Amino acid sequence: MTDVTNSSAADLSTALQAGELSSVEVTRAYLDRIAADDDTIGAYLHVDADAALKAAEDIDAARAKGAELGPLAGVPLALKDVVVTEGVPTTSGSKILEGWRPPYDATLAARLKAAGTVLLGKTNMDEFAMGSSTENSAYKVTRNPWDTDRIPGGSSGGSSAAVAAGLAPWAIGTDTGGSIRQPAAVTGLVGHKPTYGSVSRYGLIAFSSSLDQAGPMTRTVLDAALLHEAIAGHDPLDSTSIDSPVPVLAECARRGAEGDLSGLKVGVVTELGGDGHSEGYDPGVLARVAEAVALLESMGAEVRQVSCPAFDLALPAYYLIAPSEASSNLARFDGVRFGLRVGEDGSRDLDEVMALTREQGFGPEVKRRIILGTYALSSGYYEAYYGQAQKVRTLITRDFTTAWDEVDVLVSPTSPTVAWNIGDRVDDPVAMYAADLCTLPASLAGVPAISVPCGLSDGLPVGFQIMAPALADDRCYRVAAALEAAQDAARGHVLLAGIAPKENSPS
Ligand code: GLN
Repeated sequence: MTDVTNSSAADLSTALQAGELSSVEVTRAYLDRIAADDDTIGAYLHVDADAALKAAEDIDAARAKGAELGPLAGVPLALKDVVVTEGVPTTSGSKILEGWRPPYDATLAARLKAAGTVLLGKTNMDEFAMGSSTENSAYKVTRNPWDTDRIPGGSSGGSSAAVAAGLAPWAIGTDTGGSIRQPAAVTGLVGHKPTYGSVSRYGLIAFSSSLDQAGPMTRTVLDAALLHEAIAGHDPLDSTSIDSPVPVLAECARRGAEGDLSGLKVGVVTELGGDGHSEGYDPGVLARVAEAVALLESMGAEVRQVSCPAFDLALPAYYLIAPSEASSNLARFDGVRFGLRVGEDGSRDLDEVMALTREQGFGPEVKRRIILGTYALSSGYYEAYYGQAQKVRTLITRDFTTAWDEVDVLVSPTSPTVAWNIGDRVDDPVAMYAADLCTLPASLAGVPAISVPCGLSDGLPVGFQIMAPALADDRCYRVAAALEAAQDAARGHVLLAGIAPKENSPS
């Protein structure tokens, strides 16, 4: 193993366990890359090199003493800044939380710490996870390593850019309407949104509580499965946590990579880029997705078209439900308990301080959503907007249930287009929202969905989405691993975008 920052996390784990590399060596390699390249990429909001090296030293010392360590021990990682971390600045991309150092760890952060992973830093994101380009961050621009004039997707764009640029081996993102899958798609990564309720939300700064899920963003399907297993499982601190065993995913990814899909029934969703529904989709995206479907078929899968008519209504339903829940969740940012407080000079009462803090602390997209959500929930309009949207949500869930009678997984593009130029959609919220067309149905129904790279269009990555029934996340991994292996066999695995494209060398 020579090129640490061009390795998969699974390969790093193997080398660490075999004593071929120390955690300090691996961590230092990533910190060096961050120091060299993050001024250009802008993936991180916070990096504490000393703390990372200290954690790595502790793991190396424990290993030297013969301590029983798990497979992830000593592997570094990055966390989206929406994940609360004890003593480590956490802003959710917002000025209103500037300077806040949380007094506790999110459950997933605590689990990753207990597994011995080394925190490299916290990654940039759209403010409160509202956006598809990371341009709504209150702090900085994040660039796509494949073309630094382009967006890295969002809202987990700091995580996608960090992993794609080799500034972290893998990262955690969160997905409310597509924020793991879409940034993974446009930066050539694997990103999985777990079944709603299967990964703890305790300590994720809430955006839309009935939709938010955390999950892995990685270079390979196996890495995603390993990271997912480490954060999954019941948590009594999250009231919507499902009480079921930690899913077996890495094993499914390994078996999937053998490439036998015989007996698997695959449904291609007509409404997501199919006949009569291709407006707004890049032809190059549709071509790569069709090739991926053909590859699944060549491995024995049985493919058919499946119509899910209510999916056409996912976008308006989501953009009522998510802002409604956000307007309630964001009421806690009042300038009293966390972060920013503006205008407290003795001349103003509490209401004025609160109003000034919110005026200066929230950015324009967050204000737009709070206003929209408050309106949609107001008495007299509640049934017409929020109530209707919830009914649409039920119809979408029913479309999935009907589909599962016929097929094992549903597939589609992850995003209608490749990464666009920075600035192109900032003045057009509806164009920005359109990036979520394909990811929203799985979010609204709470079912798992993975995005796996399926080639390039105009030199930019395209993502293939695989959706499965609730708690059948393993199916997403099996099919994604088969596709990944078949593509690797066809053209060799490109692990990294790199700032300057790099040669292929997974190990
Ligand atoms: N782009 C969507 C939005 O702006 C989804 C964001 C997310 O998944 N956090 O709401």
